[in-house]
Amino acid sequence: MSRPNSRDRELRERAAAVIPGGMYGHQSVGLLPDDYPQFFSRGEGAHIWDADGNRYLDLMCAYGPNLFGYAHPEIDAAFVRQLGQGDTMTGPTGLMVELAEALVGMVSHADWAIFCKNGTDATTMALTTARAHTRRRKVIRAKGAYHGAAPWCVTRPTGVIDSDRANQIFCDYNDVASLEAAVAEAGDDLAAIFAAPFKHDAFVDQAEPDAAYARRARELCDATGALLVVDEVRAGFRLSRDCSWSRIGVEPDLSSWGKCLANGHPLSVMLGSDKARKAASSIFVTGSFWFQAATMAAALETLRLIRETDYLERITALGERLRAGLAERAAAAGFGLRQTGPAVMPLFLFDDDPDLRKGFCFASEMLSRGVYAHPWHNMFFCAAMTEADVDGALDAAEGAFSALKRQVRDLEPVEKLAFLTAGAR
Ligand code: PMP
Repeated sequence: MSRPNSRDRELRERAAAVIPGGMYGHQSVGLLPDDYPQFFSRGEGAHIWDADGNRYLDLMCAYGPNLFGYAHPEIDAAFVRQLGQGDTMTGPTGLMVELAEALVGMVSHADWAIFCKNGTDATTMALTTARAHTRRRKVIRAKGAYHGAAPWCVTRPTGVIDSDRANQIFCDYNDVASLEAAVAEAGDDLAAIFAAPFKHDAFVDQAEPDAAYARRARELCDATGALLVVDEVRAGFRLSRDCSWSRIGVEPDLSSWGKCLANGHPLSVMLGSDKARKAASSIFVTGSFWFQAATMAAALETLRLIRETDYLERITALGERLRAGLAERAAAAGFGLRQTGPAVMPLFLFDDDPDLRKGFCFASEMLSRGVYAHPWHNMFFCAAMTEADVDGALDAAEGAFSALKRQVRDLEPVEKLAFLTAGAR
């Protein structure tokens, strides 16, 4: 629990009265070490300040939305300029067309765009589009993959009924045989195969996509008439300036994007190829805030920076610097630390740590040294980070490994996570 008499503690106590459970979703009380702050007061560049004014290097980047730095001057100036002209209005501004043109110009498979707000809007819309296109029901997706918090895909089953989950078949990511078996099970009723750009499930090691798996998914969709959907909500534009699977030469029919699209301003999008255009124009999708112009102005500026700067090469180099330095320090301290997934979206898991007690302790020790890391979810790099930030994080890690070594024999299991880790393994 946060320090007594702290602003964070006070806010938690007040929240417990007026917010169910005190907090919800991925920041729910108990999903992170007890000393993690729950409330923040400021973000600038690569750093966040908690409600008590403590500053951290933020390795979470808001779970992805922060790509160019918090309070980015050019992006936020574009946002504010448009806010003064009109934001949520009766219809969209011309920025919507400009933005669709920009994305169609950048993402190889895309011929059109439909904008929305959250990643879940975009993944759910992709499912609806695939069903409208095929007039079939079944969707195949990988076990443990996250596609949002709507009843069809939410990870916690409470409040979800069987019919919300109907017509879904699960396969194992990167396992061609299980994908083929799922397609066989779907018979003539397959609407879509969903895939993450790489395996980025929580609690388990991440995995790069196997090109043979991606190619087979494409072939199976072509053979059956189903649509291939790549869910770029988390990884989009951190691995490529195009769709992530363009790196392995596989183009989906639909892709869902969100998070960093407007560098933290709320915007998501479904992109699609001409094949699915008719279906996409036949479904009814909308939201009161979906035409907001200021976020679109911010997104245009974000996309310009994606096209015109070397952000991708820089964050990749920073990720690799952290990975190499951390591997050295973990080995020197005698810990087996698995760093998986692309270096710009790393996940750290300790060997012999089934209930995450080492991971929680290490994360707490990093936090107390000014680095906000995550014990079971992938982290993110942003272009506002510097080599000095990474070197500072490595110094913090050296201290954190020593502290972990001193405490490791006396650590308690992290029981509150048992239900989640059991489901993931
Ligand atoms: N898909 C993926 C791969 C995600 O990581 C997320 C969010 N973590 C979503 C979909 C849902 O996005 P949102 O939380 O914006 O609804």
